[in-house]
Amino acid sequence: MNYSMNDIKEIKRYAEDLNIPIMQDEGIEFLTSFIVKKQLKNILEIGTAIGYSAIMMCLTGADVHVTTIERDEVRYMEALKNIKKLNLEDRITLIFNDALNVKLEGEFDLIFIDAAKGKNQDFFEHFENNLTKDGYIITDNMYFHGYVEMNEEELPSKNILGIIRKIKEYTYFLENHMLYKTTIYKVGDGVAVTERRG
Ligand code: SAH
Ligand code: MG
Repeated sequence: MNYSMNDIKEIKRYAEDLNIPIMQDEGIEFLTSFIVKKQLKNILEIGTAIGYSAIMMCLTGADVHVTTIERDEVRYMEALKNIKKLNLEDRITLIFNDALNVKLEGEFDLIFIDAAKGKNQDFFEHFENNLTKDGYIITDNMYFHGYVEMNEEELPSKNILGIIRKIKEYTYFLENHMLYKTTIYKVGDGVAVTERRG
């Protein structure tokens, strides 16, 4: 291991202190194991935050490359710092922009969607042509802190109700898509794994 576990711990602590919603341990464990099992090498991430999940995905193998997009300047700057600290500048390409304004040329064998929860379908449709034939699209927070399983009257705010309805629409979109099949795993905050139908 040529990186320090302490750097990772510091990144996690920073996220916790500033309330930045990085992936939960169970979710990151699932995601990184999946990447290793399927030998995924070229990854696109929507929603970098401070680089935690991008770094963890990148560290699954010396030949893994991650392209990751973040629209918040403060988080982008922090991600840059963290990626440098771990000496991963050559293997993580960080893009500062709204993902929906970014057009990419290459193909990815994993597209990981973890940004604005109301826009999952927009991200999916914006980037699906960048997915390799056998690639996967993974979406985080399908349960949105457990709110997805609550009665709508019990939700704490109109804002959350709006997001929950969007996530439900996205779930429907995934589960009824003619070209893709999806499994939603009860790990972390709910992780959807989508692949093309055979
Ligand atoms: N994947 C990260 C956590 C991402 S949190 C991790 O687990 O470590 C979600 C991030 O998505 C936020 O930082 C937010 O600024 C960013 N985001 C939301 N909508 C976006 C968009 N349209 N384009 C780019 N980034 C976006
Ligand atoms: Mg998330």
